[in-house]
Amino acid sequence: MKNHLKTHLIQKENNQLIIAGKTAKQIIAIAGGTPCYIYDANKIKKQIASLKSQLPARIHLHYAVKANPFPPLVGQIATWVDGFDVASHQELLLALSCGMPSHKISLAGPGKSYNDLAAAILSGAIINVESSLELTRIYGICESHQCKANISLRINPDFELKHSGMSMGGGSKVFGIDAELAPKIISSIDTDFVNFKGLHIFSGSQNLNQHALVETHNKTFDLAYRLLDQACVSASQINIGGGFGIPYFENDKMLPLSAITDNLSLLMSQYQTKLNNAEIHLELGRYLVGSGGVYLSEIIDKKVSRGKTYLVVDGGMHHHLANSGNFGQVIRKNYPVLLANRIEDSECETVDVVGPLCTPLDILARGVSLPLAEVGDIFAVLQSGAYGASASPQEFLSQPKLRELLL
Ligand SMILES: *Cc1c(COP(=O)(O)O)cnc(C)c1O
Repeated sequence: MKNHLKTHLIQKENNQLIIAGKTAKQIIAIAGGTPCYIYDANKIKKQIASLKSQLPARIHLHYAVKANPFPPLVGQIATWVDGFDVASHQELLLALSCGMPSHKISLAGPGKSYNDLAAAILSGAIINVESSLELTRIYGICESHQCKANISLRINPDFELKHSGMSMGGGSKVFGIDAELAPKIISSIDTDFVNFKGLHIFSGSQNLNQHALVETHNKTFDLAYRLLDQACVSASQINIGGGFGIPYFENDKMLPLSAITDNLSLLMSQYQTKLNNAEIHLELGRYLVGSGGVYLSEIIDKKVSRGKTYLVVDGGMHHHLANSGNFGQVIRKNYPVLLANRIEDSECETVDVVGPLCTPLDILARGVSLPLAEVGDIFAVLQSGAYGASASPQEFLSQPKLRELLL
């Protein structure tokens, strides 16, 4: 059975999966064992460079650190992108310690604590304000520290990004300030305490539909213009969100970029004067790092129960919740998976691959066709560079610590 997506995603040599120029067994020897995540720095660098070469030159590309906050990786990405978007105090500290200048870091997220806000204000990072009460709290902190905060207003748009894996704007949402309330709030901002930088309009995530993204970009530029015009202020930066998806499942296709980048070029010129030359920021997480990571585990048992064959591996949902189907998915589907040390074989069998946790939720693949596997073979989950280790309940069932490696 040919899986076109898988064929497209892998690099192989002598029927072995090659990651960062090495076989899985070599990677594991370097990591010191399984389970482990391997991130391919060069692949991620190329993905970012390729995207940048297609985007209009004036667009600033930001990395959303929450997609993969592995510090050595974030440190390298710092030199390849124009800024970071962070979603917690810890991520802010990581961004700063990677040498990202504070004015190129923005902090988003509902429920920012006093510490989150104070750290952002005093470091000079930009706060994407999510409510009017948050704005008032920022004034209070600025007053007590005798300093000024850099802020953008996060807007909950009056439209949705269609065909998104996860919708984060439109309708009633906890994220951002409803668009219809924004002009009044913007025009009443107290500039004794804050520098108004602009707007942040993020609509959704994991989108593989170029037309939906084009439509959202059109609406986003229009909304930004309308809000600033109604408030009679100008902005120095507009963050238009991201949402570019990557293929995970058998019928997924790579997101074609040309319609999106052509449209962005057009919007940049149409709105350049209307938006007073504001910088346009695109923030992406998954699209930059998702294809650059592979999760490797070793087969430790093989059993048949009432006609169904199970491969039991030493890794699982405690490291890769999204692959197990428990990270917000409605229907579980298999990620692209394979035997890293024997990609193809004349004989295959259909198996369920499960982890070591005592719960039926611990699934790595269901009903997949793999070469006849043996204990000691290496099982690989591709497309695992985003929302992997840090998005998983690693303490659950007290398994050995996860290894992460960047090569
Ligand atoms: C999660 C998030 C992102 C990144 O989303 P991806 O789908 O990984 O690109 C960007 N911006 C904000 C505000 C987010 O919350």
